[in-house]
Amino acid sequence: MAGVEDRPILFASVKKLAQWAQSGSLWPAQFGLACCAIEMMATAASRFDLSRFGAEVMRASPRQADVMIVAGRVSQKMAPIVRELYDQMPEPKWVIAMGACASVGGVFNNYAIVQGVDRVVPVDVYVPGCPPTPEGLLEAVMQLQKKIRMGGRPMAPAMPSPEEVAHA
Ligand code: SF4
Repeated sequence: MAGVEDRPILFASVKKLAQWAQSGSLWPAQFGLACCAIEMMATAASRFDLSRFGAEVMRASPRQADVMIVAGRVSQKMAPIVRELYDQMPEPKWVIAMGACASVGGVFNNYAIVQGVDRVVPVDVYVPGCPPTPEGLLEAVMQLQKKIRMGGRPMAPAMPSPEEVAHA
């Protein structure tokens, strides 16, 4: 008869188990802002199969989502809405800035486009490229999973209010 030491038992804290579960069941908010969103859709399709990482359940309501994938350029007009969606997501929540436009404004260095969505919401992972590839988004999801398993950030840092964002 096998001794206790031979049995496949793992010990972990509840916090570690929760982090592990969160990292393997990310629910992205379902929205896209520009051409990057096409690449995001391709990531969820069969060729790249985002569901291999447990992150394919795109939620139509921000109240049921814990990841915001900002896919595309953020116009000044759209910024307060992006911020409102973020505020409606429950904690803990994370943000991926997908592509050059969402990360730093991309080629749109003008008055109409926010020069990086991190001026509006706190970003956890940036995906480079124009357009960014589905492989890039998969890598971002894996980096985010690693961050969550290592503890992530406990609460979202203070950001400008939606009113301040609207008048930025
Ligand atoms: S980074 Fe390129 S593909 Fe993405 S929204 Fe900007 S212009 Fe479009």
